[in-house]
Amino acid sequence: MMRELQLLIKPASCACDMACRYCFYKDEAAGRAVSDRGKMRKETMRIVIDKALAAAQTCVFGFQGGEPTLAGLPFFQDVVAYAQERKSPGQEVAFTLQTNGLGLDEAWFRFLKENRFLVGLSLDGVRRSHDGNRPDHRGEGTFSRVFGAAQRLQEAGIPFHVLCVLNAQTAPRIGAIYRFFGRKGFLHQQYIPCLDPLEERRGEEPFSLTPQMYGEALQELFDLWFADVTAGRPVYLRQFENYVAMLRGGRPEACSMYGKCSMQNVIESDGTVYPCDFYALDAYEMGNICDPEVDFETFWKLAEEGGHPFFREPARRDDRCGSCRWYPLCRGGCRRDCFAQDGGQKNYYCEAYQQFFARSIGRLEMLAGRVRG
Ligand code: SF4
Ligand code: SF4
Repeated sequence: MMRELQLLIKPASCACDMACRYCFYKDEAAGRAVSDRGKMRKETMRIVIDKALAAAQTCVFGFQGGEPTLAGLPFFQDVVAYAQERKSPGQEVAFTLQTNGLGLDEAWFRFLKENRFLVGLSLDGVRRSHDGNRPDHRGEGTFSRVFGAAQRLQEAGIPFHVLCVLNAQTAPRIGAIYRFFGRKGFLHQQYIPCLDPLEERRGEEPFSLTPQMYGEALQELFDLWFADVTAGRPVYLRQFENYVAMLRGGRPEACSMYGKCSMQNVIESDGTVYPCDFYALDAYEMGNICDPEVDFETFWKLAEEGGHPFFREPARRDDRCGSCRWYPLCRGGCRRDCFAQDGGQKNYYCEAYQQFFARSIGRLEMLAGRVRG
């Protein structure tokens, strides 16, 4: 039995009540023979739960989208009740939800609190940067509604982090965004680089995050975060905390920091399993969890033994990684940022990482050496 199994479930497939300009999942789904798989049936979800509990001691059921709350609160109530009923006394189950916040109401807040969901709320910083890319289907900005949801989560005492996408609208304002989050008490923060559409040259979209923007935003964020942390103001910024933990010999939380792609157990609403959220494409289908012949062990073995195209060269990154002094921390980044160039392989953000580490390594090491209370 595996020690822990983390699942990334898409109960509403790629459906969403927002129309974010940079949505990578809509882009991926558009390239599939069947883009939207509809809402997940309760029976499908119960198979997922049964097979997960048969495979691992601890099961983390993560829900993402599209917008997962569109599957409806009764769907989630059934998930929790069924998992609690089926788990054996020694087993642990945990739930996470990545949401745009639009559909959260008092019944949701009660449910999330009672069942100890860890919530990720997508909030692209301040009103201007958020509304620039995250309108609803009528074209109206969603900042006020999402910010309201953040405040309600806070009042209800539900643990959550804000997830801010770094793009051409947020990166140049990153200092203002970081300070804004701090003033509002949103102290758990995650920043992830925006993806350009598949099959498109990078850097061509109005929202594209260029390497220069990324490098500058990382440095500014780090300066601000370091000042807070050393002044005793506890801000948890996932990427930097992970670097510090790695310097102490710990394992990072993000697969882009593992040094190779690992099995992310992405489950579409019809039960189709993919290796990674960034590769939920027909060419990378691994099977269907509803198939009586397969279980999570099957997928795990396929990944470990390289028996699936996604895992043939899981560690192939930038050709310079092998001799790079920053590799122990950087590990080459995410495969979606790597591309073939001049007969070799290159990471789009390599120079940004190199500059960042060269400038920050002393302070990262200092934090790693510090005993933090
Ligand atoms: S492609 Fe990126 S996100 Fe997907 S498994 Fe590899 S490193 Fe992780
Ligand atoms: S900085 Fe560049 S060469 Fe070095 S590990 Fe990262 S991606 Fe590879």
